[in-house]
Amino acid sequence: MNEDGRGLGGPMRTLIRGGWVVGNEAGSHVLFRDGVVVFEDDTILHVGTRFEGRVDRTLDARGRLVAPGFIDTHVHCGHLAALRLIGDVGRPDYFGQPFFEFTTPRRGTRAVGDPRYVSSDETSHEILRVWTEFTIVELLRNGITTFVEFGARAHVQQALAQALGRLGIRGYLGAGYNVGRWVGGENGRLERVVDEAGGAALFDEAIAFAKDIDGRYGGRARGLLCPTGVEMCSTTQLLETARLAAELRMPVAIHAAYSVLEFMGIVRETRMTPIEFLQSLGLLDLGPLLNIGHGNLVAEHRRMPYSGGRDIELMGAHRCSVSHCPVNISRRGRFLDTWGRYRKAGVNLCLGSDTYPRDMMMQMRTASYFGKVLGADLSSAPAAEVFEAATLSGARSLGRDDLGRLCAGAKADIIVIDLSGRDTLRYGPVRDPIKSLVDVGIADDVETVIVDGVVRMADRRIPGVDIDRVRSDAQLAGEHMWRHWADWDPLFRTADEMSPMSFRVVD
Ligand SMILES: [Zn+2]
Repeated sequence: MNEDGRGLGGPMRTLIRGGWVVGNEAGSHVLFRDGVVVFEDDTILHVGTRFEGRVDRTLDARGRLVAPGFIDTHVHCGHLAALRLIGDVGRPDYFGQPFFEFTTPRRGTRAVGDPRYVSSDETSHEILRVWTEFTIVELLRNGITTFVEFGARAHVQQALAQALGRLGIRGYLGAGYNVGRWVGGENGRLERVVDEAGGAALFDEAIAFAKDIDGRYGGRARGLLCPTGVEMCSTTQLLETARLAAELRMPVAIHAAYSVLEFMGIVRETRMTPIEFLQSLGLLDLGPLLNIGHGNLVAEHRRMPYSGGRDIELMGAHRCSVSHCPVNISRRGRFLDTWGRYRKAGVNLCLGSDTYPRDMMMQMRTASYFGKVLGADLSSAPAAEVFEAATLSGARSLGRDDLGRLCAGAKADIIVIDLSGRDTLRYGPVRDPIKSLVDVGIADDVETVIVDGVVRMADRRIPGVDIDRVRSDAQLAGEHMWRHWADWDPLFRTADEMSPMSFRVVD
């Protein structure tokens, strides 16, 4: 086996016999009934209703849906045990912003068990192994063949890259940078500690990492520039990001228009909205390669007390990407205002999981339903659009016309989804497989995952991965994290005090 895990034999030609096949013609998805997909090595050769040429092996996917692997444009790696504490609760002074709740330590302490935003010498090898293995196994298991990691530090990205190499997923990796960190000061008050010199070192490390990782593992690992948040970076860092991204043609992932405190802070400092500020720095000129997470708290949002806003229009005019993470934001009582309006403006709406579970069916369904409700329009956010967001739009945000679609010349990143519901009646009768997927599908319906022409999961099993062990490792890591919550919580709360159990527990 060479670096990308592929054998060294000659070209190998595989035919997948559907079932429904989501093909692609002139950039748009089409549905082939009883279709076939043929790929040779890492590239798709043919998609259609039949194929007469020679094949070396046939995979039977009759009665199933054969689709392009999903592209998750907003991943924060790890088992996300800390996020189990923010369901239904949150500090009023954080205005619903999730990450403050579980990454802001009391001054002089650090968040226990979360390696993402601390330096490498504070992180054990074992924590990183559990953290990265869980991430990539969950993504693959759920049919996500390409992911974008949103800003963990370089040593975490290195560990992710190793897991990516071993398990065979495709990933955009870039270490996060900014100029400081958030801490809980006196009375638990949120404070920003600015460290320009430290920020400059992080920036250099991140750029070196992105350049180094780009193209490794047979091209499955690609570089990404990740200024963690528009309000957390220096203007110099943001300007340099715009310049380097244009020079390297590398995508940029940045949190912007995502937090009440961020929105208000940028307006007070610059008299511009976060989106206008990005435009003034040249970042919107990157077009789809600028991945704005989450881009929902914009000037025009019905709950934003701001006059004369035109953020959606600006993002749309530049065809920028927004990684919309509907499950995460709806858990915080937030919403995109609205799906239909963003699409109409020309925004490249993508889908990200961000939180748990990393389930694109759940993301598509939530995006669709909230799109209809907030638009007060039953035809808004249809299944076709949310499916495009999970595939084609994600590819566009990466500057890739060979991902997110099944057609000749595209990468062989293919998933097979069982639409039977196995021993359940969940699917009922299936007429339109895409609508069925969006309405009743769950990630567990993914049966087979192929990345770069290599079968990485067959019959829901990933070779070399013991799912029970991955789960129990994560459970242990979570229990450790929860047990030590009061060690660093800015308000000295235990996990149970911060996040009371749903009902009184009787032991
Ligand atoms: Zn995020």
